Amino acid sequence: MNTYDQGLMWFRRDLRTQDNAALYHALKTCRRVWCVFVFDTDILDPLLTRGLRADRRVEFIRESLVELDEQLRALGRAHGAQGVGLIVRHGQAQQVVPALARQLHVQAVFANHDDEPHAHARDAQVRGDLAHAGVMFHGHKDHVIFERREVLTQMGQPYGVFTPYKNAWLRQLDDFQLQAYPVQRYAVALAPVPPALAAPVPTLADMGFETTNLSQLPLPTGSRGATQLLEDFVERIDRYHEARDFPAIKGPSYLSVHLRFGTISVRQLARVAYPLHLQGVQGASTWLSELVWRDFYHQILANFPHVVHKAFKPEYDAIKFEHGKHAEALFAAWCEGRTGYPLVDAAMAQINQTGYMHNRLRMVVASFLVKDLGLHWRRGEQYFAEHLIDFDLAANNGGWQWASSSGCDAQPYFRIFNPVSQSEKFDPQGKFIKRYLPQLADLPESCVHAPWQARELELAAAGVELGKTYPRPIVDHAEARERTLLRYAVVKKPGATPK
Ligand code: FAD
Repeated sequence: MNTYDQGLMWFRRDLRTQDNAALYHALKTCRRVWCVFVFDTDILDPLLTRGLRADRRVEFIRESLVELDEQLRALGRAHGAQGVGLIVRHGQAQQVVPALARQLHVQAVFANHDDEPHAHARDAQVRGDLAHAGVMFHGHKDHVIFERREVLTQMGQPYGVFTPYKNAWLRQLDDFQLQAYPVQRYAVALAPVPPALAAPVPTLADMGFETTNLSQLPLPTGSRGATQLLEDFVERIDRYHEARDFPAIKGPSYLSVHLRFGTISVRQLARVAYPLHLQGVQGASTWLSELVWRDFYHQILANFPHVVHKAFKPEYDAIKFEHGKHAEALFAAWCEGRTGYPLVDAAMAQINQTGYMHNRLRMVVASFLVKDLGLHWRRGEQYFAEHLIDFDLAANNGGWQWASSSGCDAQPYFRIFNPVSQSEKFDPQGKFIKRYLPQLADLPESCVHAPWQARELELAAAGVELGKTYPRPIVDHAEARERTLLRYAVVKKPGATPK
């Protein structure tokens, strides 16, 4: 006996059928279920207004929806139902979902939680509109292992420091948290799309967007793409702890985009890493920690939503960053990879050309923007938000507040990355630099990290002309460091000594 006769599954950041909490609950509790995804004009139109027509994320979602539609069709066919599939609409989600619920005469809508503030506002409105029509709105945890207030201190407060959070997270982890939702078992409830609503997934052009270089990147889309990346990573997971910091080698999993859009379940990833962690495989333990960082920043956003507009630590809002024409010129040079620091410039070329940036480099360029150029971290946060395919408000805000020292458990303000020593340490042969800055390809290893220190002869032999083929450094790191220590003096606590 089902709780509801008819239900609607609303996909958002969970674009898969396998191990999907809300889809499972919808199929289990309703006799018939339809599935919808809405290309939300509240999110897309502002991109178009800002001229961002070529957005790799929109293309990634669109390609992944084509696969999701196929998965639903296949699930339906396996249960003898033809014409099952995904209803895809392009409009304001908060209008479209209640309207569709009315049109389909459903009694309940199911979705997985999204704890970004704008999503909370949208869901509150949808919940209200549905309630008005007598339709239930069910939300489920799916995007993280532990969410919201599930992991708390002994005082019943959310954690603001990572290590004790991680220890508590590991203590609380059990088979229940890791187990997969057996969607297939209840897939018989998938209902054919009514002919009036059946339409192919809209093209990018239908929505005013352009094709990007996504198909040329090593980023396969959809659940099939995620599985491919996971299978590749599992072969390397035991070396992750040693390889992850070197951008020239294939160290990390490259699964962040898939986690962002839910084309793979985080439970599935934890089910891979956790048993290996228990067996003492260090690479797996380190990787599991990264998944815990992801949960950590998600609970920070859920419990301290002020971080979206302010520093986590309020005293850091008193810092005065550079502004005016000079600051604009510095920012443009950072965005365009023209700072004269090869590792920073290569990293910015990576994000601009591919929509991805290696984690070590995210830390380096973030520190450089804030502590070498003296620019507000919000400017970098916004740039990443526009350019990363894996952009995720919780992780991005957490990463930027960490680098600027304003965040929870952040880098102390007097710890300032030296972009040259970071380069020597993490790209010792300059392989990554040369991949993204071909104009430096012939420089010897000894000069590639700081070309301005090379002798004229060495530069000439490599065809490098400073100021012409490659810029001179736009700031002197040692001087910038001193300026930053002064700038951050407003937050200095007694006893915190610069080292
Ligand atoms: P792996 O090393 O394979 O890690 C596995 C997964 O763990 C990642 O896919 C990601 O989901 C999670 N993870 C890893 N590191 C972190 C971290 N520090 N914080 C939270 N989750 C983490 N990650 C995003 O997903 N979206 C962002 O918008 C984002 N912005 C960042 C901005 C800055 C300034 C910094 C320093 C970090 C940011 N990160 C962000 C975290 C991290 O850099 C990326 O998750 C990672 O580089 C993605 O590559 P991967 O999938 O190969 O990671």
